[in-house]
Amino acid sequence: MKKKIKKEKIEQPALTDEQIEFLSAHNKKSNSHPTTDEPFDKSSYAKTRRYLKKHKFFAVVITVAILSVIATVVLLSVYTASIIANRPNSDDFTVKIGDKKYTAKYEDIMINDIMYIDATKIATLDEVIISGDATSRKFTLPSLQYVRFANNSNVAIVDGEYFDMGQKAIIKGNMCLVPIDFISKIFYSGLDIQIDTEENNITIGRVEIGSNGKNDPIYEPLGLTTEIGADVTNVAYEQFGFDSRLHATILDPKSDEYLLLVNHTNPLSSTYIPYDLVQLNCDTNPANPKSYYNLREIPAKALTLMMDAMKTSGIEGIQASSTYRSYKRQVEIVDSYINHKMSKYSLSYEDAKKEVLKTSALPGHSEHQTGLCVDFVQGTSSLTNDFENSTAFAWLKNNAHKFGFILRYPSTKEAITGYDYEPWHYRFVGRTVASRIYEANICFEEYLALSK
Ligand SMILES: [Zn+2]
Repeated sequence: MKKKIKKEKIEQPALTDEQIEFLSAHNKKSNSHPTTDEPFDKSSYAKTRRYLKKHKFFAVVITVAILSVIATVVLLSVYTASIIANRPNSDDFTVKIGDKKYTAKYEDIMINDIMYIDATKIATLDEVIISGDATSRKFTLPSLQYVRFANNSNVAIVDGEYFDMGQKAIIKGNMCLVPIDFISKIFYSGLDIQIDTEENNITIGRVEIGSNGKNDPIYEPLGLTTEIGADVTNVAYEQFGFDSRLHATILDPKSDEYLLLVNHTNPLSSTYIPYDLVQLNCDTNPANPKSYYNLREIPAKALTLMMDAMKTSGIEGIQASSTYRSYKRQVEIVDSYINHKMSKYSLSYEDAKKEVLKTSALPGHSEHQTGLCVDFVQGTSSLTNDFENSTAFAWLKNNAHKFGFILRYPSTKEAITGYDYEPWHYRFVGRTVASRIYEANICFEEYLALSK
C-alpha cells in the first residue's frame, strides 16, 4: 500500500499557482503548530524569498530603501570631498601689500575662524606713524586721522569715535593683528583686498575711494564723541532731583590724578598715602566707626551725591563697606587670610598665599590704597556675587557712570583686569571717562590703553 501511494505522489502533476497559494496560506495558519514534516526549505534565505514573494509591496519598499541608502552614501561622499577640497589649508599665507610681499604664519591670519591682518604691515602703504606699546597701538595717517587698537580689546578708536570690531585686536611683538574685515571697512575704505584661501594668498592694494563699492561702513560707531551727551550731564536734575551741573567739578574733575591705575602689574609704593583723604558723609557699614571710612575729597563728595540719588530712586539700605585701605592695613588683611587658610586647610604658607591671592591683592596692588574706590553692601548682603541680585546693583549698573563711577571688575573682563568679577566694587574716574567706559563696554585697563 505504502509503495503504491508513493508512486501516485510522483505521478502528480505540477501544482498550479492557486494550489501553491492555498498551501502556503495553510502552512502559515499551521505555523503555530509546527509539524515535523515541513515541506519547505527552512534556510533564512529561502524564508526571506518566500516572504518577499508573498508581500510584493514590502519587497518594493525594501528595494527603494536600499537604493536610497546607496544614493545617500554616494552624495555624502561627493559633498565631503568637495568640503575637503574647498577648505582653506593650514599653510602659511603669502601677503602682498602694494609691491611688497611677506609670509604670515597661518595662526597669525586665521584666529578663531576669523581672518586677521597685521595692521603694521598695511601701514607701509602710506607714511603712517606707528606708536604704542604692548598694550595698545596707534596708527596716525599723514592726514592726522588715526586709529587705535588695544590688546585683547574689541574696541577700536577711529578719530575719537569708538567702534566695536566684534573681535579682539591682538598685539604680539611688533605685530598688531586686527580683523581684516574691520581694516577694509573702516581703517582704509579705499583698500582692495583679495583673499585666496586655496593657495593662501592675500593681495592688498590701493583703490580710489568709491570705485570698489565697499565704502558703506558696516560698523557703526558706539556713539561716543569727544564730548559726552546732555543725557548724562543733565540726568541728575531730571531723574534724581538736584542739578548735577552745579556739581560738574566734582562729578567730572577731568584730571589724570583720578585715572591712577593699580592692578597686579602696577603697584603703589608702600609709602603712598593720598594727600586729600576725608571721612565719608554717606551711610557706612556700622561694623566699624565712621572714622574708619575715608576716600579722597572729590570721590567722597561724588559718592555722597550718588548715594543721595540712590535714596531718591528708592534704593534702601545701601552702605559703603570698604573704602580707603592703607598699605599697612592690606598687609594685615592678607596675613590674616593666609593664617586662616593655613589652619583651616592645613596648607603651607606658600600654598595658602597662592589661594588668598586669587581674590585679594598683595599689599601695594590693592586699588583701595588709592582712596578712589568703594565696596558696597545692601542690607545684610556681604561681599559676594549675591550683590548682583540686589536693587542697588541694578541701579548702579545703569547710573554709576553718571556720577563718575565704574564697575571696576566686570565679569567679561577678568582676563584683562586680572581680577574675578566683583559686582560690589566701584571706582571713581570722573563722569566723562566713566561714560566712555560704560558706553563702549570696556574696562579701565582697556580705556587707558586706548586713550594713550
Ligand atoms: Zn573692593
